[in-house]
Amino acid sequence: MAAAVESPPPLSVLMVASEAQPYAKTGGLADVVGALAPTLARLGHQVTVVLPHYHEIGPQSGDTTTRTVRLGPRSFDARLTVVAAEPGLRWVLVGCDGLYDRDGLYGDHAGDFADNATRFGLLARVALDWAERSTGLPDVIHAHDWQAGLVPVWLHTASGSLAEVPSLFTIHNLAYQGLFPTESLDTLGLPRELFSIDGLEFWGQISFLKGGLVFADGITTVSRTYAREILGMEQGEGLDGLLRHREAVLSGIPNGIDVEIWDPARDRFLPRGYSADDLSGKRAAKAELLARYGLPTDPPALARPLIGMVSRMVDQKGLDLIRDAKPRLDALDATFTIVGSGADHYEEMWRARAAERPDRVGVVVGFDESLAHLVEAGADLFLMPSRYEPCGLNQMYSMRYGTVPVVRATGGLADTVTPYDAASGSGTGFVFDAYSADAMVDAIEAALDVFRQPERWRTIQRAGMRQDFSWDVSAAAYVQRYRDVIERRQAAGTAGGAPQGV
Ligand code: ADP
Repeated sequence: MAAAVESPPPLSVLMVASEAQPYAKTGGLADVVGALAPTLARLGHQVTVVLPHYHEIGPQSGDTTTRTVRLGPRSFDARLTVVAAEPGLRWVLVGCDGLYDRDGLYGDHAGDFADNATRFGLLARVALDWAERSTGLPDVIHAHDWQAGLVPVWLHTASGSLAEVPSLFTIHNLAYQGLFPTESLDTLGLPRELFSIDGLEFWGQISFLKGGLVFADGITTVSRTYAREILGMEQGEGLDGLLRHREAVLSGIPNGIDVEIWDPARDRFLPRGYSADDLSGKRAAKAELLARYGLPTDPPALARPLIGMVSRMVDQKGLDLIRDAKPRLDALDATFTIVGSGADHYEEMWRARAAERPDRVGVVVGFDESLAHLVEAGADLFLMPSRYEPCGLNQMYSMRYGTVPVVRATGGLADTVTPYDAASGSGTGFVFDAYSADAMVDAIEAALDVFRQPERWRTIQRAGMRQDFSWDVSAAAYVQRYRDVIERRQAAGTAGGAPQGV
């Protein structure tokens, strides 16, 4: 009889993040935390996610306690609402008068909130306070992006058993760094010696993100290509030297997508469900999408290729290419439906185009979840000409919805979209390399050419729809990274040395 293979024990994981579905979202981070946490729970692990209780979340039912937590010279009364979501998963929503109960997560049209260092410094402190006094320390703490960057820092400066807890830090976007003036060291109660090149100092300021990168036991980012790209000057955002130094503990784990929320067969935002075998529901979605934007819905309009975008309107997403490509884009026989918000000048650019070509360009400026689903389903092509893209989710949603992505070969876009090959008819999308308006329009034109050959087009659609982007594989990779940092700590402990960031 074969000996039974012992499976490793389940882990207790504490996550700290600034946004997560279904509570608060401005971008992909929310999708990732909101899907990874329940997937881990379903794999048998115990997961707690600590998240700010923003105004937009509203009152939630759950056990509520108040804790007084010190942050530098000040004390804050944090109200913790614990929501038991499903077996193995609970959310700890952190409320605090005057800090999170306002409109917006990180800022408003005037810019970032001036007290973000306090808001997210407190989030990290409250998470560690929770870790210390809840039913046993977690096996590992997983901190996401700069907003949770002080978690590894304070684990490093902690005394007692908290200092033993290993941490994993995930970079969802290296460009957002949480930079604050040096005075914040005192406001946050951080030791002055941390203001050094081996610590939080970044060009005369303190960087929460750098804190996470220096002091976490392990670092991940959200695609393999981005993990490689950020080691270089071009995409390293000034942190490539540090990342090269920490390369041994850095790895890329591609994001999955929530295949329950993003399922064309059961999507509650669509007029009708559809699948690769029967795409008639996709045509219904196209008609509804055009109507929602007030665009023509006559037969020629329905037959015309529809190009969709759902995006933050910022430089990262390649909107300058769209600005520069105006003459060639105007010449295409295509319709555009756009939803997004961000920089005023890009919002204005799209509004102007819609005003100029009301029968061809539909624009909604704002954040609209239901419209995002409808664009993914109703468009024929989905455009993501990103300058850089850590992972990107929309291209995966697109493929799952039979909407063919046109993307730039960067980061996660390069990892997830297989370029169409005319000779074999294989591929899941259209990919261009150079960051230029012409390269982008060339790729769109190549896609439109195949769009006019329905058999070939359907092959691409079906190839995309058949892909498995579910979270299970990626969640298992995170579990492996958790075990790695735990083992690394144990090894360092038995060797008698305290783990060091740098
Ligand atoms: P990023 O995190 O850089 O914004 P991702 O592609 O990783 O880019 O994720 C963006 C997520 O946010 C997707 O789920 C996308 O559908 C959503 N999203 C972005 N802008 C909007 C918007 N204006 N309305 C609705 N959803 C949006």
